[in-house]
Amino acid sequence: MFQDRQGGGGYGAGPREEHEITCSKCGNKGTVPFKPMEGKPVFCRDCFREERASRGGGGGYGGGGGGRRF
Ligand SMILES: [Zn+2]
Repeated sequence: MFQDRQGGGGYGAGPREEHEITCSKCGNKGTVPFKPMEGKPVFCRDCFREERASRGGGGGYGGGGGGRRF
């Protein structure tokens, strides 16, 4: 009855794809688990954390602080 599915599993299974980036802030090279957008600044893990911490005011995802909807 049960068949081993190879390559299935959906999200959460398998290794994450890492993309090489050069940090726009400190210039260090690193990898990110998402695909960096062209033309947009990309940060290494450390700077990403910093940016996120300094930018968000503790609102979390879609906190909606400005009332501006994208
Ligand atoms: Zn950096």
